[in-house]
Amino acid sequence: MTLETALLSGLAPDGGLFMPEELPRLAATFLEDLGSRSLAEIGGVVSESFVDQLSAAERVRLVEETLDFEIPLVELGDGVHVLELFHGPTLAFKDVGARFMARLMARWAGGDSRPLTVLTATSGDTGGAVAQAFAGLDGLRVAVLYPRGKVSPLQEKQFTTLGGNIQALAVAGDFDDCQRLAKEAFRDDRLRAELRLTSANSINIGRLLPQMFYYFQAVARLPEGSGPPLFSTPSGNFGNLTAGLMARAVGLPCRGFVAATNVNDAVPRFLADGRYRPRRARATLSNAMDVGDPSNFERMLWLFDGDVDRMRQVVAGSRHDDAETGRIMRRVHQDSGYLLDPHTAVGYLGLRHRLAALPEPAPGVVLATAHPAKFRHEIEPLLGLRVELPRRLQRCLELESRALDIPARLDALASFLRRWH
Ligand SMILES: *Cc1c(COP(=O)(O)O)cnc(C)c1O
Repeated sequence: MTLETALLSGLAPDGGLFMPEELPRLAATFLEDLGSRSLAEIGGVVSESFVDQLSAAERVRLVEETLDFEIPLVELGDGVHVLELFHGPTLAFKDVGARFMARLMARWAGGDSRPLTVLTATSGDTGGAVAQAFAGLDGLRVAVLYPRGKVSPLQEKQFTTLGGNIQALAVAGDFDDCQRLAKEAFRDDRLRAELRLTSANSINIGRLLPQMFYYFQAVARLPEGSGPPLFSTPSGNFGNLTAGLMARAVGLPCRGFVAATNVNDAVPRFLADGRYRPRRARATLSNAMDVGDPSNFERMLWLFDGDVDRMRQVVAGSRHDDAETGRIMRRVHQDSGYLLDPHTAVGYLGLRHRLAALPEPAPGVVLATAHPAKFRHEIEPLLGLRVELPRRLQRCLELESRALDIPARLDALASFLRRWH
């Protein structure tokens, strides 16, 4: 099985998720000189064992094209750093995974007269990142499934205004319904073969691989002599955190991870009592993390051989409600002038809690998953200030939205896909 097959099929034939057969450790010399490496060099090396069909130079170029934006590491004081992953086209970290995957898929999608149909379910941010990453690419088309009325107007604009090879489907239901619908479509062998279906959700391994790169980049950019950091990843479907765990498996120096969630806390509850009990998602301020049954949980378990005790040695759960999230956003802004978006704020809370519980001090890195401007409607009333929208997004808001309403049923989705030309 090659990455190409895994990427183009999305889900394994038995309905499970793809994972690399092996996670070979990176060379000690690479890890020792991390500080002197560029992000593209890091990506070229980290992706070697997964994308071995490409030459080293091709891999570096792929990473350069994917990550043609900055990923700054900003220090907030007390050894706490923010890794700003939100300077891409849709101002969310999902641009990283989506752009890498889109470029690889476009390379491999040819050789068939029918286009590859990419299905993606979104609770808000994935849809935009995937749509923007695939727009205009040959041999590929994208259907974005989203819960009607449950994403912000700006999020909606980012995937309903592109036209061409991008179609938005407004599903009568919530995000879990959209995700279920996408999974049902993949599990229907006939439909899948007929339409050349694949997934652009974080169930697709192609999105996870590039997310390993920036964990290394964060370590590379910490002040010299800081020691390995504790990472806090604000999580919904747990793709981002899984990428961090994969990075650790190949040698990322770190003190561990915080699985930071809002009240949709299936993973923190699992870490507490060893029982995995998914629930229906509840709506929160950090809506891109409103996931009741995280799709990457299986991968996290696999990485620890299904053993919760082993997972606990590396991952700590941390759950934070909206009131706490709002308070910390106000406090950090008052104290340092820094604006946290609600998702990053959950990660920041998780990081603070865990750092305080460590026996000795360690640097901390919170992964900043969205630009505050993306959530200005949430932030403005909470903080009593105006958040400027970057020009690029302002223009997007003026475009006309086009989406097709569908019920949350596979037959409705299938019938649209079959008619789509
Ligand atoms: C998608 C998203 C998350 C959650 O990431 P997962 O990989 O699904 O855990 C967190 N924050 C923002 C802003 C997101 O868009």
